[in-house]
Amino acid sequence: MATRHNWTKEEILEIYNKPLMELLYEAATVHRKHHDPNTVQVSTLLSIKTGGCPEDCGYCPQAARYHTDIEGNDLMSVNHVKAQALRAKSAGSSRVCMGAAWRNVKDGPEFDNVLEMVRTINKLDMEVCCTLGMLTENQAQRLAEAGLYAYNHNLDTSEEYYKEVISTRGFEDRLETIDNVRKTNVTVCSGGIIGMGEKEEDRAGMLVALSTLNPQPESVPINALVPVEGTPMEEQAPVSIWEMVRMVATTRIIMPETQVRLSAGRTQMSREGQAMCFFAGANSIFAGDKLLTTPNPDVSEDMQMFKALGLNPQKPFTKKSKPETVEASESKYNSLGEKPKWSRPGHTIERNVITEEKQKAKAKA
Ligand code: SF4
Repeated sequence: MATRHNWTKEEILEIYNKPLMELLYEAATVHRKHHDPNTVQVSTLLSIKTGGCPEDCGYCPQAARYHTDIEGNDLMSVNHVKAQALRAKSAGSSRVCMGAAWRNVKDGPEFDNVLEMVRTINKLDMEVCCTLGMLTENQAQRLAEAGLYAYNHNLDTSEEYYKEVISTRGFEDRLETIDNVRKTNVTVCSGGIIGMGEKEEDRAGMLVALSTLNPQPESVPINALVPVEGTPMEEQAPVSIWEMVRMVATTRIIMPETQVRLSAGRTQMSREGQAMCFFAGANSIFAGDKLLTTPNPDVSEDMQMFKALGLNPQKPFTKKSKPETVEASESKYNSLGEKPKWSRPGHTIERNVITEEKQKAKAKA
């Protein structure tokens, strides 16, 4: 069956709510048609600039306004990043994903350093992904020219529920950045988080937004919220394994070619639970003991699990060939110093405001 780009919320909900055994069977069948079921891609997430973010994402301990216990750091050096990438490669990772807690990319020395990091990792024969916030077309072109393989920009949730999570930017900004990335040869990684208090309709709404993109994202991370103390979502109840399995299986059915990634929340899942997700079509994980700032299983634990399940890590550039790297001195793009007007809806999200006030008072005391 050809990939469909016209899924409706109702159809997706119908799939999501099928009897579990039928859902698993259908998802596993789609999975086998499009992927090797015994191969799982392994990515390492590296926080190259942690904390101090001006945004108000209700789930994120890196938002400066929530004063959580995370240790912030300035942009890492290129050498530090190279050392971490080599470590990840020797542990079996095929991709390094570099995350910076920025609202959007700003032209200048820091972005130039990120471009150098991209060149350095691509030359190590690893896939390079970045998640740096909103991006203009020129910035996307410059990343592509440096050898970027993928750009991550999550939609997080449905357009409707987005307004209950973030007030400092709009859903349409996310789509615009994805569109800018699509104008290059960089692949798109975009997914979301479940367990933020959203309804099943919102989960389906997010999947509508992702699956109706044409082409669909090459990778879709499915995160389970890790509630962090000090954030507005600190008291959210954990999602059950059944919800995770249903979400993975539904994603697999409606986006057959995509690599579905088990992301945040894996520490709360048993190996059996993760195995069920792999059966349901997950074929990518984040490895390493930290996912930006939240805990994640150790790489050696993951490799033991792979051995027990007979899974093999995917080799780099299996799905798409290695991009060329153009050196900075030979770049055909100039830094434009653009200041795009990304939106600032600024509506009130009660739990975000209450948390901010609470944290302010705590800091004063
Ligand atoms: S999720 Fe990203 S944009 Fe939102 S507060 Fe955290 S670091 Fe900033």
